[in-house]
Amino acid sequence: MTESSSMPAIVKVAPGPGNVELLQVPRPVAEPDQVIVEVHAAGVCGTDLHILDDHYPTRPPVVLGHEVAGIVVACGSEVSTEWIGRAVAIESHHQRCHCTQCRAGRRNLCPNKQSMGSFVNGGFAPLVAAREELIHPLPAGITTTVGALSEPLSCVAHLLVEDGVVRAGDRVLVTGPGPMGMLAAMVARASGASVVLSGLPADSDRLSRARDAGLTVTDQPVTASFDVVVECSGSAGGARMALEAAAPRGRYVAVGIHGREVSLPFDHVLYKELIVTSGFAATPRSWQLAMSLMTSGLLALEHLISSVRPLSDWDQVVAELRAGQGMKVLFDPRLGA
Ligand SMILES: [Zn+2]
Repeated sequence: MTESSSMPAIVKVAPGPGNVELLQVPRPVAEPDQVIVEVHAAGVCGTDLHILDDHYPTRPPVVLGHEVAGIVVACGSEVSTEWIGRAVAIESHHQRCHCTQCRAGRRNLCPNKQSMGSFVNGGFAPLVAAREELIHPLPAGITTTVGALSEPLSCVAHLLVEDGVVRAGDRVLVTGPGPMGMLAAMVARASGASVVLSGLPADSDRLSRARDAGLTVTDQPVTASFDVVVECSGSAGGARMALEAAAPRGRYVAVGIHGREVSLPFDHVLYKELIVTSGFAATPRSWQLAMSLMTSGLLALEHLISSVRPLSDWDQVVAELRAGQGMKVLFDPRLGA
């Protein structure tokens, strides 16, 4: 490859644990219905660590990165050149499919799902390709840095807003103060709920970041009764506390991934008639909700971003996230290029 035809990228190069490297790959070329986006920000997600550990399916070699925002710099032959120069975020599920789920607007549940950053090339690279129907213009006043939070925000909109799981006046407990927990707490509060975000004493850095964003936080076990409990910790302890704290006829929302079988007091669901819901990734409708939530002024999204890094920091970023340091880390592939 010549220098002009290649670019650096963080790539899952082969199946198995590890096998993620920063290397040169071909620059993408837009197919007729695609655009090319110059990546300004791409968020690192827990899923990326699962991909590194081979606990999440991939089709290598594939460029990682599924929380992507940037500027459209090229268009395929069927796409209007009016996109050029526009700031956009990119939806995750890139399959060309007409199955029952896709036709119903549930591309996240498609059996033929092809997700960016695990099955098709993602945004841990200077350029990424996406079909026109999968790009969302960022609202006026939203930077590409904050715009990279569109994808996790659309996941939270799918969990809490799309089906009206959280309503004005609800008492809401969110367990687990990671990026998803903090986003869920912000969105629940924006929906008119009173919200408590709970963590452990070891989460003090993340809890103080959430407090700075105006959220009510605690590092102690919660005993009050809540209309909605949103379990974002993915730990058995967090899930147990959430089940116990749910009020009769309350709603339990499963967000955190346990990644293994866990033992839980599930009889609370029966005795209290709890309604258990969840949401896996995001739908086109929840992307629209995320875009309007961004413009609402009700979320303090900038408080989620703990650092913006060059691609060459991959190993260091992984070590920090495994240690529970920081909150949402973004790559800006223009740094250090
Ligand atoms: Zn499908």
